[in-house]
Amino acid sequence: MTMTETGSPSGGIGIDVGGSKIAGVVIEPSGSVVARKWMPTPKEGGRAVVEACISVASGLLEVARAGGIAVGPVVIGMPGTVDSVRGIVRDAPVLKIVNYEVVAEVQSAVGHPTTVIHDVKAAAFGELIAGAGIGQADVAYLNIGTGVSMSFVFDWQVYRGVRGLAGEIGHVRAVADGIQCNCGRYGCLETVASGPAIARAAGITVGGVEAVAAAAAKGDARAINAIHDAAGHLGRVLADYMTVLDLQLLMVGGGVSEVGPLLLDRLQEVFDEQLADVEATVRVVPAALGGESGVLGAAHRSQLLRDDRRRTRW
Ligand SMILES: [Zn+2]
Repeated sequence: MTMTETGSPSGGIGIDVGGSKIAGVVIEPSGSVVARKWMPTPKEGGRAVVEACISVASGLLEVARAGGIAVGPVVIGMPGTVDSVRGIVRDAPVLKIVNYEVVAEVQSAVGHPTTVIHDVKAAAFGELIAGAGIGQADVAYLNIGTGVSMSFVFDWQVYRGVRGLAGEIGHVRAVADGIQCNCGRYGCLETVASGPAIARAAGITVGGVEAVAAAAAKGDARAINAIHDAAGHLGRVLADYMTVLDLQLLMVGGGVSEVGPLLLDRLQEVFDEQLADVEATVRVVPAALGGESGVLGAAHRSQLLRDDRRRTRW
């Protein structure tokens, strides 16, 4: 249980906005979830998505008030390019949102302080506090889904970077003469290790990475190679970062991580090969909270923001 300066224990409200659903929770001071609300993400995107966030946030605030739970700000985790400093979502293609002042709009509609953060940073924090990172102070989180991105935790703080964009590893070059990426450059990690990239390499056009995993489980060599190659690229790129930052634990989440050992064991092997000359390798562990890392991380951040604003820069 955490306490505010006035001594009253506080809870938190977190919301995670994904391509298919918007999920929110209220946690009580102990960290246990006392309420969950969710809605499908409106297909039309844009303003409709923000309105759905307002609806979920209002419902959660009502539950918190009714239960006498004092909560921190509403913390919303969103995908894309998120300017958490100014409260603006710069670009979230999956939500059809461009340069949207999400914080100002939600805050005025719900009458409660609100902040927005990148969903992968929220997920990393969720895993740190309540998942695979419990007990760690310095750890990295890798999210593999439609894109590839990371979040770094140093001394229990999620590292933000100057513009809040730290961890965008998906656009680091992985292949010297690679194909063109959505970002316009060539050979980005995302072009060889994201869900769509793995499906493309496996020659699978329907069913995405789940279909690749199913084919691999039946022994399909092309599917197995696609997953192995993706793990190889991830391992080679990440090994240097993990070494430079002196990190020893990599938590892996996101839809593609559900492929499981075929991907994660290969990633571990690549680290072991790459890091053979250093004292300790990097340990690869699956995220422990499944699809809930982001929403729980947002809620824990809400709690933390109420308890100690000064220490919490990210
Ligand atoms: Zn790129």
